[in-house]
Amino acid sequence: MHKLLTLLFSMVFITFSSIGQGKFHVNKVIAHRGAWKTQGIPQNSIASLSEAVRLGCEGSEFDVWMTSDEVLVVNHDPEYQGMDIETSTYEQLLTKQLPNGEKIPTLKEYLREGKKQKKTKLILEFKPSRVSVERSEKVGEMSVKTVKELKAQKWVDYITFSYEGGKKAIATDPKANVAYLTGNIPPAQLKEDGFFGFDYNIGVLRKKPEWITEAQQLGLTVNAWTVNKEEDMKWLLDLKVDFITTDEPELLFKLINGK
Ligand code: MG
Repeated sequence: MHKLLTLLFSMVFITFSSIGQGKFHVNKVIAHRGAWKTQGIPQNSIASLSEAVRLGCEGSEFDVWMTSDEVLVVNHDPEYQGMDIETSTYEQLLTKQLPNGEKIPTLKEYLREGKKQKKTKLILEFKPSRVSVERSEKVGEMSVKTVKELKAQKWVDYITFSYEGGKKAIATDPKANVAYLTGNIPPAQLKEDGFFGFDYNIGVLRKKPEWITEAQQLGLTVNAWTVNKEEDMKWLLDLKVDFITTDEPELLFKLINGK
């Protein structure tokens, strides 16, 4: 009887844990700053994330800055509605709204929204500080800690232009998937420093296509930004890269699905 109960319990446990895991989309499409262009949605808004999820993107990318009072917020430019984010308080940023009426999202709000679904990953870009390297490192460290606090590790991969910030994020959570953006470091060095892969500009990769093969041989992921032309998308698809970051997710879906 005891054995039977143990067996039953194990079966129930296995069933529930496999449901709990969920399965993220695997289709290479990363919406750059969310999916915003076709529908005229503000970049990096919660609405742009929802649209990327609705389209079925594998990932939705967004950018993270730190306010002067150390709140992580989601915005592309260093300025938000005329205010410099790094030297403004979060409360000051709340005095202005995005064109669709949303307030500037905090990283926590963005992660909570992303965690409501289990199909689209969240590609978190932490921005290098314009104030100091220490601040860049702090944004990397705090981003990883916030993701951990919200138990969102399964959803989040990281990208950054800051090599030091990237290494800090990896040191803070060795399991964090961090890809490097600047395009000046060869794959072997990235591997040595614990990076998950690279996310390089399409222009860099056109000049150094051998880096794609090298990265693939080393088990690093290959991503490219910001790929909006059909010929570049086709070139990358032929090379079997892992991800393509684009402002035109609908176009990329058409190419992938052969329509
Ligand atoms: Mg970005």
